[in-house]
Amino acid sequence: MLVNEDISVEKETLNDTLVVDKKACMDCSFCSKTYPSLFDMYEGKVKLKNMNFENVEKIKLQIVIDKCPSQAISVE
Ligand code: SF4
Repeated sequence: MLVNEDISVEKETLNDTLVVDKKACMDCSFCSKTYPSLFDMYEGKVKLKNMNFENVEKIKLQIVIDKCPSQAISVE
């Protein structure tokens, strides 16, 4: 499980599946307010919390993916 602390890293992944593009993130905090146990904010950018992707609530995640204004969150 990888959660990278380095904010200079543009992308952060959870189990090589959930990807957040920190460079694209525009600091609206929608993701961290909607799903605070998965998303956090750090220095104006989205940050993933340490969680196994299997335990992620997929419906809630999909809402965040769909409504992120910068399309910075994806599942690969
Ligand atoms: S919803 Fe998107 S733009 Fe807003 S803080 Fe989260 S990742 Fe960044």
